[in-house]
Amino acid sequence: MGEEVKSTVEEEMLVVESKEWYLVSYAPHGVPTSDHLKLRTVRLSLAPDSIPDAHVAVEMLLFSIDPYLRGRFTGTLDGLYFPQFQLNQVITIFGIGRVKRSKDNKYKEGDLVLSASFPVAEYCVMSSSEIVAKIDTASGISLPDYLSSLGVPGFAAWLGIEVVGDPKPGSNVLISAASGGVGMIAGQLAKLRGCRVIGSTGSDEKVKLIKEEFGYDDGFNYNKEADLDAVLSKLFPNGIDVYLDNVGGKMLESVLNHVNKFARIPLCGMISQYNQVWTEREGIRNLLNMVGKEVRMEGFLLKTHFNRFGDFAKEMEGYIKEGKIKTKTKINHGIGTFLHSLNSLFSSSNIGKLVIQLKP
Ligand code: NAP
Repeated sequence: MGEEVKSTVEEEMLVVESKEWYLVSYAPHGVPTSDHLKLRTVRLSLAPDSIPDAHVAVEMLLFSIDPYLRGRFTGTLDGLYFPQFQLNQVITIFGIGRVKRSKDNKYKEGDLVLSASFPVAEYCVMSSSEIVAKIDTASGISLPDYLSSLGVPGFAAWLGIEVVGDPKPGSNVLISAASGGVGMIAGQLAKLRGCRVIGSTGSDEKVKLIKEEFGYDDGFNYNKEADLDAVLSKLFPNGIDVYLDNVGGKMLESVLNHVNKFARIPLCGMISQYNQVWTEREGIRNLLNMVGKEVRMEGFLLKTHFNRFGDFAKEMEGYIKEGKIKTKTKINHGIGTFLHSLNSLFSSSNIGKLVIQLKP
């Protein structure tokens, strides 16, 4: 009897309360609100008997807040064509967690692990097959960098510049959302290739940052420029060879008036259009310029290029260690900030890569 009471108490001590964000209703247009995403608290047992074989119990440390998430709860398959979260399902996300218990001998308590499908929760029990990599804490690379220069935005920037855009030394390169997760890395990669690199971004402070910290040759604040054609004429007297498009809409249309023969436009994303259904999105009226200038415009997604992730990571780790690629991280604290953090991507309020930190 005494033994039974003791083991019940011990089991109880291994039960944690975990807050998690789940989908209540789809949001086809407009900024998502608490009508769409809600926080709830669940009780989760971390007792060894509750963890199936080949599973791990993880406490979450950092989440990567990326614009593609918006495309996972529109309720429609268009544009980004990302699979939709199911109603009542916990949102899943790229992140870093610490193993609390393991039923897989590849992982032990205390290991720091990366996954592309962590629940936006404080704790979880998940299949160890969902772990992408174990972090080498002796590498000298900061944890946020694994979600930034070595994570989703870094890989997207590398694909956009090194694989799809492929600018030559001396090429004139424009990058939109230049101070964000993708833009800060893309600009530095293009500079390493010897290009002349200009960035567009949403505030004067960010224009200063991209020039002083990320080595951009020049930049402009699109929120202040009433005439994008005029600013592009001024900054690109010899035309644009490569435009890494992160925003779509009016910027893409204006760029097409300034492209050089055989210009390349890697389409990384179109964040200015993510909160609209397709019939409300801005049309690009001058696509005909692509014919006359023989422009190659090409969309790309990370998942198609995962076979290149190893090449990317090796190169990027080298750049980080040599101090050739710098990053800036905006850290929001606590799981409660998820909805606000997601929505902040659609304004000019963040600088650098946005992460949510749950635990130090
Ligand atoms: P981010 O820059 O960290 O955050 C988004 C930034 O976009 C905001 O800080 C804001 O910066 C800018 N923005 C928001 N609304 C805008 C609007 N209406 N017009 C112009 N700019 C606006 O995001 P990120 O991670 O680097 O992502 C950038 C783009 O890359 C997104 O379109 C994303 O979907 C795409 N992406 C694609 C892939 C892929 O596999 N293809 C992977 C990762 C990211 P400012 O207004 O201050 O410039």
